[in-house]
Amino acid sequence: MQRYFIPAGQLTDTEATITGEDAHHLIKVMRARAGETIICSDGEGREVLAEILTTDSGTVRAKVIEHLPLHAEPAVQVWIAQSLPKGDKLETVIQKGTEIGASRFIPFLSARTIVQYDERKEAKRVDRWRKIAKEAAEQAHRNKVPQIDSPLAWKKLLQAANEADAAFFCYEKPSGSQLRTAIREALEQAPRDKLKLMLIIGPEGGFTEQELQEAEAAGCRAVSLGARILRTETAGMVGLTCILYESGEMGG
Ligand code: SAM
Repeated sequence: MQRYFIPAGQLTDTEATITGEDAHHLIKVMRARAGETIICSDGEGREVLAEILTTDSGTVRAKVIEHLPLHAEPAVQVWIAQSLPKGDKLETVIQKGTEIGASRFIPFLSARTIVQYDERKEAKRVDRWRKIAKEAAEQAHRNKVPQIDSPLAWKKLLQAANEADAAFFCYEKPSGSQLRTAIREALEQAPRDKLKLMLIIGPEGGFTEQELQEAEAAGCRAVSLGARILRTETAGMVGLTCILYESGEMGG
């Protein structure tokens, strides 16, 4: 059954209205007809089973049949702060991280970030990242679409780390503590559904010693993801999976 995230304003208690590319996909690609059922979500925690009423003039109107229980969102929010990697690796991080269960992605620039990011010229990249998150969330049957921030400067990222209940500075040199210990201690801090944990991942060239010191001074905790050196696009997936596993979100 097709599922679509639609703007909250297009989902009322009784009707769902699908427009734009999603309506085009339904009408032209899926050849949907009145009477067929679809799932619509506002991406903020409301999800309905709806029956298509009309499919004309590029808009699909559907009658809400049933409000569906939300079961696909992890209780604990995991935010992946990712130093902007080369090429389209961030798209892979967003797609796979959304499938696994991340709630937010915060790209940032650090000393050894190789790519340059010019907000004026590249705002459309953020739109593309958000589209990837939406499509990955639809494919994964998530109830919410992860938030994608615009890239932050290093100092701004450290400020954002304060919004989390715990921020894990992923550091492959021996100074990092065991991730499992850090996760278990963090999970004790607050009820799971109130908990926000951040993973901070460096670029291909890693973090500088100074960034480690600045992150620890800002209250971040250096953690190891094991004795192997992971690619920048792998590291966040490992940390995310460990956190969700430890908090009982990976099945069973
Ligand atoms: N310094 C690495 C090297 O020697 O190749 C390069 C950095 S690694 C490719 C990219 C980022 O992934 C690191 O900055 C770190 O955030 C994370 N990372 C990779 N392996 C890790 C590990 N074993 N423990 C903690 N973080 C790791």
